[in-house]
Amino acid sequence: MLLQELLIYILIIIIAGLLSVFLCGYAILKLKGAPGARYYMLVTFTSAIFTFAYAFELSSKTIEQIIFWLRIEYLALPFIPLFLLLMSLDYTGQKLKPWLSYILFIIPFITIFLHSTNDLHHFYYTSMELRADSPFPIIKLEGGPWYFVHSIFVFLCIMVSVIILLIQLNQQVLLRFRLQILTMVAGLLVPIIASYFYMNNISPYGIDLGPVSMSVSFLFHGAALLSFQMFNVSPIARDTVFASMKEGVIVLNHQDVIVDYNNSMKLILPMLNHFYIGKTITNVLKENQELANIIYLGKENDYEICIKEKKINYHIRFSPILTKNNQQLGKIISFVDITDQVYLQKKLKLLASMDGLTQVYNRTYFMRKTEKLLESLISTEGNVSIIMFDIDHFKKVNDTLGHDAGDHVLKYVVKVAKKCLRVTDIMGRFGGEEFIICLPNTSLYDAFELANTIRLNIAEKHMLINKKEICVTSSFGISHAMMNSGVHHQSIQTLIRQADEALYAAKRKGRNCVQQYTQVIQNIT
Ligand code: GH3
Ligand code: MG
Ligand code: MG
Repeated sequence: MLLQELLIYILIIIIAGLLSVFLCGYAILKLKGAPGARYYMLVTFTSAIFTFAYAFELSSKTIEQIIFWLRIEYLALPFIPLFLLLMSLDYTGQKLKPWLSYILFIIPFITIFLHSTNDLHHFYYTSMELRADSPFPIIKLEGGPWYFVHSIFVFLCIMVSVIILLIQLNQQVLLRFRLQILTMVAGLLVPIIASYFYMNNISPYGIDLGPVSMSVSFLFHGAALLSFQMFNVSPIARDTVFASMKEGVIVLNHQDVIVDYNNSMKLILPMLNHFYIGKTITNVLKENQELANIIYLGKENDYEICIKEKKINYHIRFSPILTKNNQQLGKIISFVDITDQVYLQKKLKLLASMDGLTQVYNRTYFMRKTEKLLESLISTEGNVSIIMFDIDHFKKVNDTLGHDAGDHVLKYVVKVAKKCLRVTDIMGRFGGEEFIICLPNTSLYDAFELANTIRLNIAEKHMLINKKEICVTSSFGISHAMMNSGVHHQSIQTLIRQADEALYAAKRKGRNCVQQYTQVIQNIT
């Protein structure tokens, strides 16, 4: 080898060292606190020490000088693979247990110790001599037992780093992050390839390509860092946010294949597991036609499910994933928990539909509900009875016992009436002390019987109000209609008017009795 050639090698190595120093400086200035950055600084710094010492080793004239610089190199070199491993772990958001880090750090320290005391035991190098075939003093080293331990340690650290990054690569959806990780992996592979040349004695005159290859690898990392802002736009941060989001999120590609989903999504679709990544969403929703339809239509919608016997309401939203050219790559479907809102809305609706004092429907809501009921009765050709009742001489209760006592009586009367009703019956407060009940599919006879029972139950009970025993009676009017389709039907308004007429007749008849609308007609005619 010519002197010139050696000088070129030394120059390349110095440039590699300067590159490491530059990358270290860049990391200190620009990457503070970013995942992996701490170890990136350490690895570029130790690599710079190693590289410069190696440049000195190559320019040494005697074997003593060479051994001196070799020892300096070995103050930094054993830590490099470990820092690379820690960088990859940190970058992928993982942490080693403290005891494991301590054990891992012991190995480089043993290496340094054995390397610097090699003369005493030859445990690291079995022989160190100058190469005979080289015109310049280049050392020929025969590895001892610990040299192999160190080599395996280096290899394992890099291999584990590569595996960690590849696992992360597998979990990434976006091409941008995949490229970052691939660049990192490529960076790690460079020294492995270089050491292959070195170990198989393919490198020229046994010159270790390690320092150069390492700087080249940091260049890869640096390239990843500059072009993809490797550490700034950290995939880990994105992953953590994604995984811990309260909203359930599922990502589909343009063929509706599941690409990713987060933890909250597993609550909504418990059958989701890794197995479904790469399968279409219809595969997962085979037994959930309702949700499958919503997703198929791709329109915002509300969705209710039962999780652990609790009803949860979700609002489903769709956001397209577009390329820069507005081409659709896929979509993000998010499930926002709106259970509290729905509960509040229901409560408000209920409040607006109820009478505050008696807790039966108010007049407006009663009318709306019965109108709907009558419509459904027409389609099923059913029939309906309406009971209207009014407390007798209620004014007297108010006048003699006070308004509060009157309220108490109202509540009591409603309680008695409600006890006699079926779940399908609808009761409302029609006005002051006047109530109305709609009885679907109830004959006039049954409605009469029911009204009479309520009447007797109300009249039977003696209430103790303000230490005074009081008893109220009430009067009832009933109307009835068949709801056959094709025939002219009674509207709810007509039925109510008829029941009211019957009630009026009951009052005229002396109160505390039940009158039917047909009877009213008979009485009139
Ligand atoms: P009748 O047997 O003919 O029905 O006689 P009445 O005294 O019950 O008739 P009227 O309809 O004249 O009186 C109803 C009274 O009900 C008048 C009103 O002060 C009272 N009232 C209406 N709403 C309430 C209420 O919410 N609480 C109380 N305490 N009284 C009410
Ligand atoms: Mg009254
Ligand atoms: Mg009245």
